[in-house]
Amino acid sequence: MPCTILAIGAHNDDPVIGAGGTLAKYAQSGKKVRTIICSFGEGSHPHFKPEVIIRTRVKESLKSDKLLGGSGVAYLGIRESKFLEDFKAKNTYRKLATIVATEKPEMIFTHSLDDPHPDHRAVYSLVSTLMKQKKITCPVYSFEIWNPLRIRKRNVPKLIVDITNTFETKIKAILAHNSQKLAIGALFWNIWLKAKWYGFKTGYSYAEIFHKVVP
Ligand SMILES: [Zn+2]
Repeated sequence: MPCTILAIGAHNDDPVIGAGGTLAKYAQSGKKVRTIICSFGEGSHPHFKPEVIIRTRVKESLKSDKLLGGSGVAYLGIRESKFLEDFKAKNTYRKLATIVATEKPEMIFTHSLDDPHPDHRAVYSLVSTLMKQKKITCPVYSFEIWNPLRIRKRNVPKLIVDITNTFETKIKAILAHNSQKLAIGALFWNIWLKAKWYGFKTGYSYAEIFHKVVP
């Protein structure tokens, strides 16, 4: 049975922006990559009906997942900016614990404590709560979305992944999230620069760096 990698993100495009090169690389090496997305992001387009946005987002996510070589995307149905409230009301802690117990991942990627976006930090707290409860026992690594580019002082182990061969795939998968063009546009140089800068620091053309989550 192939080893499973879980990527847990707040919104559709987060795992691919944060860890797309690594997820594609692991998928290519034969690992099963499963993505869990908390919110459909239905609040971000006030002019469209939620059902229309949800349909579009799911379609884009599946396209992106296929490009990365992933094994599917599951949604937790959390409302944007109401994450902590909904986690309690919708029993998300138990739901995610059940997913983890079923998938038995060897590694999990999720948001960082240092991300300034409150929904992203809420996902970090969801995962770290399950770690404290020993519902998650595998290594968990955090990726960065809105974190500023800087050398971090956090004294935790890092995971450095050479994504030279999958960087192009990552970009294609990011672009599959068409409806989020504006947000992605704002992040695009940041994504490129980070991959290049981390590569420069670690001796690769492009790299992704993750920090181990120690709750
Ligand atoms: Zn997000």
